[in-house]
Amino acid sequence: MKLYNLKDHQEQVSFGQAVRQGLGSNQGLFFPAELPAFDNVDELLEQDFVSRSTAILSAFIGEELAAETVSQMVGNAFQFNAPIKPVKEGIYALELFHGPTLAFKDFGGRFMAQSLAAVSDSDGNITILTATSGDTGAAVAHAFYGMDNIKVVILYPKGKISPLQEKLFCTLGGNISTVAVDGTFDDCQALVKQAFDDAELRQEVGLNSANSINISRLLAQICYYFEAVAQLPKAQREELVIAVPSGNFGNLTAGLLAKAIGLPVKRFIAATNVNDTVPRYLRTGEWAPEPTVPTISNAMDVSQPNNWPRIEELCRLKGWGLGELGYGAVNDEQTAETLREMEQEGYLCEPHGAIAYRILNEQLAEGETGLFLCTAHPAKFKEVVDEILGKDIELPAPLAKHNAMDLLSLERDNDFEQLKAVLRSVQ
Ligand SMILES: *Cc1c(COP(=O)(O)O)cnc(C)c1O
Repeated sequence: MKLYNLKDHQEQVSFGQAVRQGLGSNQGLFFPAELPAFDNVDELLEQDFVSRSTAILSAFIGEELAAETVSQMVGNAFQFNAPIKPVKEGIYALELFHGPTLAFKDFGGRFMAQSLAAVSDSDGNITILTATSGDTGAAVAHAFYGMDNIKVVILYPKGKISPLQEKLFCTLGGNISTVAVDGTFDDCQALVKQAFDDAELRQEVGLNSANSINISRLLAQICYYFEAVAQLPKAQREELVIAVPSGNFGNLTAGLLAKAIGLPVKRFIAATNVNDTVPRYLRTGEWAPEPTVPTISNAMDVSQPNNWPRIEELCRLKGWGLGELGYGAVNDEQTAETLREMEQEGYLCEPHGAIAYRILNEQLAEGETGLFLCTAHPAKFKEVVDEILGKDIELPAPLAKHNAMDLLSLERDNDFEQLKAVLRSVQ
């Protein structure tokens, strides 16, 4: 597989290099130089999740890894399913929260861990450095936990992720270090970028990224869009509209890649909370990020979405106008109202999925089928959901276990020197 740097198309790398480096020079994102084409998508949709995902990922990765290796990686990573559930007439939820950390990031995080293990030589040191607005951190921490030759350092904005989210990944210890940064998610992301720009540090600790900018995570996420369509009754596959709750826009990028390689999707909808840089951009044509605002859908509190350049590139390559993308932004009050409405329909949701559902419900036309992504288990946002619905949701087993453990996070300022010291100390 060949990929190029979006900031310098001359810089070309293999899948292995892209997985190890995360970002190219000048903080450029890697993008596949060629997209595979599946002429017989119906046949692909007949297969089971793991076989189909192996076929898709092998087609992207190409000769670089043996088909057998990719098959093992997928088998190890995708050990849970992604069911669709009818919510109301013509609208389905795609539940992506049945993995160990109860959010869709388990798919990408686990496949990334498998990819990195497959493309790394065993002697060099590897430090995964990532910033999380909540769920990536948990997925990455759990995916790498116990791989002793790989150190993991996770930054998150102190006090801005849910206490349960924090418990899920800041209690592991071992090769996993977590840092509560006095700042926002965008500050954490900026620190990570700064670390990657420091060539000496990068070399010294073997830096590797694991947030949604790593290409292996995106490729993995393509697979559950196919899985969703495979479960839809055939008659409902023709006019399919998919709403994606978006923060850093990795999930939407993966959905558009799925469409680019042949998945029949009529339209995607980019759904955000009030951190609405993209919806405003699609409406006005002006890219004008504003300071990040905390919301009850905190995993989407991102005002400078990292993956957006990939979406622009893909649209350019495919000749898709940005005007074909649906969009919408929802505030906290509307999110709460929607959660209550959904409960009345008999579906217990959490704020991120509810945002996508609301916009989908508003924009779905006669004859279309709607699908929205449920990116996390409701119990992961227990405080918020309990309060809005007047409930006491039961914690699923993995959450209950970690909730009873002590936090092990370090607390640091939004300061690069302090981050450097942490990276050196974990070696
Ligand atoms: C990360 C996350 C999102 C946003 O996904 P992106 O790929 O960053 O757009 C949405 N919902 C939940 C629960 C998340 O953890």
